[in-house]
Amino acid sequence: MPNADGTQSLGGSVLSAHVQRGNANRCAPRCGLPSAHTTLPCGRCLQKPPPWQRLITVSDYAPPLSTLIHQLKFSRRSEVALALSRILLLEVLEAHRRTGLVLPDRLVSVPLWQRRHWRRGFNQSDLLCRPLSRWLHCAWDSRSVTRIRPTATQHHLSARLRKRNLKNAFHLELPVKGLHMVVVDDVVTTGSTVAEIAQLLLRNGAATVQVWCLCRTL
Ligand SMILES: [Zn+2]
Repeated sequence: MPNADGTQSLGGSVLSAHVQRGNANRCAPRCGLPSAHTTLPCGRCLQKPPPWQRLITVSDYAPPLSTLIHQLKFSRRSEVALALSRILLLEVLEAHRRTGLVLPDRLVSVPLWQRRHWRRGFNQSDLLCRPLSRWLHCAWDSRSVTRIRPTATQHHLSARLRKRNLKNAFHLELPVKGLHMVVVDDVVTTGSTVAEIAQLLLRNGAATVQVWCLCRTL
């Protein structure tokens, strides 16, 4: 529903994002990358599976979802956060109904380094976790995983350097033994950050770890 100036209203953008979700390319169940099969492991996962068990995503990084995510990160419009959380919830519930996806005991936000958090004032991962934990009746604490040292901005690093950059960057603040955990992030690209957190949770005895994100892209 474009406005006169060619932009979309929030309602129109959310509706289009929802349609985009319905048309989303088929994704492999574990890594969330494009695949011919939505229930069988893809070639990449057969060779080198990511540490998490399932990845739920809405679509790849394209408008209008990418526009809404930009608004989530750089504005304080809580209605954008709620709308995006709702779209992610629909994806999760559908996977639960269709494939028996395990619903979580606890959600984990991807922490921003404190200083960056302080500058921006909020963490977009928290904005998604808050309503999701309420709707799904599961636990969430914005500080269950903390970043214990600053890491270089990841964008320009190779996959190998990203991994080294993140090594031991996170600390677990709460017990997770036996729990079904979900790491929530807005956009997952190489997956190195969520992989590092997933490994931390599994090392500490989590029963399963899933990753939920709005966009999965490489
Ligand atoms: Zn895969």
